[in-house]
Amino acid sequence: MVEQHTCTGVLPGWEQVDRLVADAYEYARGSADGAVADYIPALAQVDPELFGVAVAEVDGGLHGVGDVGVEFSIQSISKAFVYALVCQALGHDAVAERIGVNNTGLAFDSVIAIELNDGHPMNPMVNAGAIATTALLPGGSAGEQWEAIRAGLSAFAGRPLELDSAVYRSEAATNQRNRAIARLLESYGRIEADPLEVVDVYTRQCALRVTATDLAVMGSTLADGGVNPISGKRVVSATVCRDTLAVLAANGLYQRSGEWLFDIGLPGKSGVAGGIVAVSPGKAGIGTFSPRLDPAGNSVRGKLATAHLSRALGLNIFASDAVTEPRSGGRAP
Ligand code: GLU
Repeated sequence: MVEQHTCTGVLPGWEQVDRLVADAYEYARGSADGAVADYIPALAQVDPELFGVAVAEVDGGLHGVGDVGVEFSIQSISKAFVYALVCQALGHDAVAERIGVNNTGLAFDSVIAIELNDGHPMNPMVNAGAIATTALLPGGSAGEQWEAIRAGLSAFAGRPLELDSAVYRSEAATNQRNRAIARLLESYGRIEADPLEVVDVYTRQCALRVTATDLAVMGSTLADGGVNPISGKRVVSATVCRDTLAVLAANGLYQRSGEWLFDIGLPGKSGVAGGIVAVSPGKAGIGTFSPRLDPAGNSVRGKLATAHLSRALGLNIFASDAVTEPRSGGRAP
């Protein structure tokens, strides 16, 4: 058990963070639990042993251990950043009204969740809400929307992100369920654009290639009020970051979001290729990659490593120390 710190204050010095990232990697590496996603055929080909842990501090400091430079498809983690881009373009209220923020308690690709909620997509981190969010992106055509996503997610990462065409083709050939979800949303008047074109853009956004280091930098941009700590460029506003992190806290880890928040205490988002991003507001982004998943679709080692770092670095946003001295002007007990 590692020492517990609270979330107030700042990160420890660079060398201590570096050592704790190595500790987290060693701690989680022992687990071989979970299974690689195979419902997208290309994902089943990946080496299940790959594992990397990266931290990007908001001042630009980078830490990484293991396979932090190996590229994999971002999958559902794209939902967080596309949501931020759409909030930036349309504003808090318009997106909250159209998409919602509440957890469905059901699987990410649930059709029943749409039916139970009269066609409301519920939140942008399940497929229905993500497809509806992508449909809201400004742009006269699907091609322009795709370019806006690629440029926007690249700005979050601080480097140009490329499409993994093998993963894209593999998912495009097998994503009947997402097409059905888009058609169902159309039937409820929740998508105005061509539903199959929207699913195509969504499938591309999920097939963008990232590394664990990219995820850490993307998370750090959200932690830093929207400014990329490496490029120094503003990507979205601080208000958009706040809204995005609230949505991630409630919905980022699928129907296990409550457990994640209880154990780890950070907004985060996982994807079925094995990535997880976690965000410590004002401090850092954490990116992990390990392809073996729990039954909900969350990387097992990624969860373990992030939990270790959250405890060791005092990142849990709900943890506080008791104030034992009366504050100046306050009343003594
Ligand atoms: N592209 C995947 C899908 O729509 C993303 C799922 C995920 O990462 O949760 O099924």
